[in-house]
Amino acid sequence: MNDRVPLGKVGKLDITAEPSAAGGFLLLWAVFSFLGAKLFRLRPGAAATGGLLAATLHFVAEMWHQLGHARAAEQTGYPMEGVHLWGVLGTSVYPASEPELPPQIHVERALGGPRASAALTIAAGILAALVRPFSRLAFMIASIFALENSLIFTIGAFLPLPFLETDGTTLQRYRAAHRKRMVVIQE
Ligand SMILES: [Zn+2]
Repeated sequence: MNDRVPLGKVGKLDITAEPSAAGGFLLLWAVFSFLGAKLFRLRPGAAATGGLLAATLHFVAEMWHQLGHARAAEQTGYPMEGVHLWGVLGTSVYPASEPELPPQIHVERALGGPRASAALTIAAGILAALVRPFSRLAFMIASIFALENSLIFTIGAFLPLPFLETDGTTLQRYRAAHRKRMVVIQE
């Protein structure tokens, strides 16, 4: 097992991180600063400040997404225990002692994250439009936040990737299982 550094609690959730999350943060800071300079045409100092805030907000978006999963999990009666951060992403942690759950529970818990991120995308998009006339720096930060919430945490979460367990992977697996069960019951 990889190193798990405890970071404290958010509500009932235990937050842990791999050291790679620090690297992920620095990588995002660099990438977003570059975007700030090239795409949003900010001066280097402003671009680096914007990059730092955008990288911080990336993890806010990740936690918001995870809290969406946690809320959905709570409602199913099979709550989440925590969030484990690694690289630039995070994984929902469920109790190891969990019994075999009906596919529908897995589906509902998986949908909670992207649903929360979709709502935050709309709020961030509106904010980006509002600040645009006033500050290029604020526009940069809000735009990156809106794009991340939509492309990574809403649309991206649904993509079943071959090298990564995403919400899409879970949905594909359990929706198929759910359908199969339905067929068996019908027969
Ligand atoms: Zn998710």
